[in-house]
Amino acid sequence: MSMPTVSIPTENLLKSGLKLAETIHYQLSPEELIQDTLRLGEGVLNDTGALVINTGEFTGRSPKDKFIVKDDVTIDSVYWDDLNLPIEEKFYHIIYKKIMNYLEKIPEIWIRDCYACADPRYRLNIRVVTEKPWSNLFAYNMFLRPGEKQLENFNPDWHVIACPGLKLDPKECGTRQHNVSLVSFKHKMILIAGSGYTGEIKKGIFTILNYILPHEKKVLSMHCSANMGKNGDTAVFFGLSGTGKTTLSADPHRKLIGDDEHGWTIDNIFNFEGGCYAKCINLTEDKEPEIYHAIRPGALVENTCFYPGSNKINFDDASITENTRVSYPLHFISNALEPSIGGLPKNIFFLTCDAFGVLPPVSRLTPGQAMYQFISGYTAKVAGTEAGITEPKPTFSACFGAPFFPLHPGTYAAMLGEKMQKHKTNVWLINTGWTGGPYGIGNRMKLSYTRSMISAALEGKLDNMEFEKHGVFGVAMPKSCPGVPSDILNPRNTWTDKNAYDEKSIYLAGLFVKNFEKYATGVSQEIIAAAPGKFQ
Ligand code: ATP
Ligand code: MN
Repeated sequence: MSMPTVSIPTENLLKSGLKLAETIHYQLSPEELIQDTLRLGEGVLNDTGALVINTGEFTGRSPKDKFIVKDDVTIDSVYWDDLNLPIEEKFYHIIYKKIMNYLEKIPEIWIRDCYACADPRYRLNIRVVTEKPWSNLFAYNMFLRPGEKQLENFNPDWHVIACPGLKLDPKECGTRQHNVSLVSFKHKMILIAGSGYTGEIKKGIFTILNYILPHEKKVLSMHCSANMGKNGDTAVFFGLSGTGKTTLSADPHRKLIGDDEHGWTIDNIFNFEGGCYAKCINLTEDKEPEIYHAIRPGALVENTCFYPGSNKINFDDASITENTRVSYPLHFISNALEPSIGGLPKNIFFLTCDAFGVLPPVSRLTPGQAMYQFISGYTAKVAGTEAGITEPKPTFSACFGAPFFPLHPGTYAAMLGEKMQKHKTNVWLINTGWTGGPYGIGNRMKLSYTRSMISAALEGKLDNMEFEKHGVFGVAMPKSCPGVPSDILNPRNTWTDKNAYDEKSIYLAGLFVKNFEKYATGVSQEIIAAAPGKFQ
C-alpha cells in the first residue's frame, strides 16, 4: 500500500461521517492517479500514453436510477416528471450511511478539490471523493483545477461521492435497483453507488448547476458547446447526445470555450467545466484531428478495445459499447480559450441527428421557429450513452437536455427567448444525421460538409444567399453553400423516392406536433405558428 502524498487533517475532508479508509489520497497529480490505477491493475496505457480503463457494468448513464431528494427545498421548485424522479429524504440518509460505512471498509480512497464555472462570479467549489483512482482522474480532467492559492482554505460548496463497488439493496434504499445517482440540494451532496460510469459525476454537477444558476442567479444554463472566432464572435451549439457538440466545437480555426455545459449571463457566456468528454467510436486522425491528438498522457480512455496482441486502440470496436469515451483537460485541444469565457453569442446552432433523413442539413430559423425547436429538442438517438439504447430512435427532449434540467423547461426556454431577441442572435438548425433516405437506406451527412455549412454560417457567407422554404417544416434552406454540393441542401433532392420523402416529412411533423401538445397552452402565438405542417 502506498502512503498518502499529502497529509491533511482528515476530519475536515467530509462534512461528517467518514471515519477513514486506511489511506486517503488527497489531491494527487494525474501522474500519481495513473500510477495508482496501474498498480491496482485497473487500467493500462495505450501506445500514445493515455490511460485506458473499463467502467464496469455501466458504460453509459442510467437515467432511470437518477433521483432528486424531494424535500422542503425542492418540493415546489423541481419539475417532477419521469426524468426528475423523487426520492424520500429518509433514503438519502440511509444511502449516505451505507456509503460512509463502505468508505471506511475499503483500503484506499481518493479525494480531490476542484470547482465548476469559469466565471469567478459563479464559481462552485466541489469536493469529489472516489473509490477508484481513475474516477478521480476524470474529476481532475473535467472540472476546473484550483491553483495552490485557491486550495488554501478551500471550502467545498458541494460534495460528490462515487462508489462503483457498492451495490445497494433497492428495498432498503428506496432505489429501483442496485445502483443510484442521487442529488440532495438540502445536503449539497451527489451520491453515486453501483455505477463506475464517469459521466454520472459530470452530469451530476451539471444537474445542480441547471438548478442553481437559473433559479438563484438569473443565469441561463445550457447543454451546449461553444467556441469563438478570430474576431471574438461566439457561437454555441445545442444538441442531445451524439448530435455533434464536441466534434463540431473542436474547430482548428476557432478557439474552444467548452464542449458540453455553459452559462449565459448578462454580459458573457462561460464554461462550467475544465475539460472535454469526447466520443471515440470510429475516431480517425483525418476527420477529428483535435480529439485524436488529445489521446495522450493524462487522457482517460473508457471502454475501448485494443487490436489483438497490442496496445493500439481499435476505435472501430464497439464490442464493449458504442459509447466509448475519452476525457482530457481543455488545454489538450490546441486552441482552447482559457479562462473559458466568451462574449455574448452571435450565432446559435441547434444540432440534430435526424435518422429519418427529413430535416435539411442546414437551415435558418425565425425567432418563433427557434423557440419551437428549442422546446421540442428533437433528435433521433444513435447508439448510445444510455444503458439499453442500441438502435436509432426519435427523441424529444426539451431544451436539448431534459434529463439534466431540474426546473420546468419553460424556465429555460423563456430565458433563452428573451436573450435571443435582445441580442438578435442568428439561429440555425443543423442536421448532422441522415441524407439520401432514412437510417438503413441513406447515409450520415459527411462531417466535412457539416463543418463547411457551419463555417459558411459563421462567416456570414449564407447571409445573402437565396433561400427556399421547406414544404413541411417551413425552415429556410440556402440554395447553395461554399464547400457543399448544392443538390444535398434540400433533402428531398437526395431521396430517390420523392413520395416516400414527403410521407416521412409529414410523419415526422406529426411527431413534433404530438410532442408539443403539452407545451401549447404555455407559449406565445408566434411559437405555436412555427409548428411544422402548414407551409405547403
Ligand atoms: P454528448 O452530449 O454525448 O457528449 P455530443 O453532442 O458531444 O454528445 P459528439 O461527441 O460530438 O456528440 O458525437 C458526434 C459523433 O457523430 C462523433 O462520433 C462524430 O464523429 C460523428 N459524426 C458523423 N458524422 C457527423 C456529422 N456530419 N456531424 C457531426 N458529427 C458527425
Ligand atoms: Mn460531447
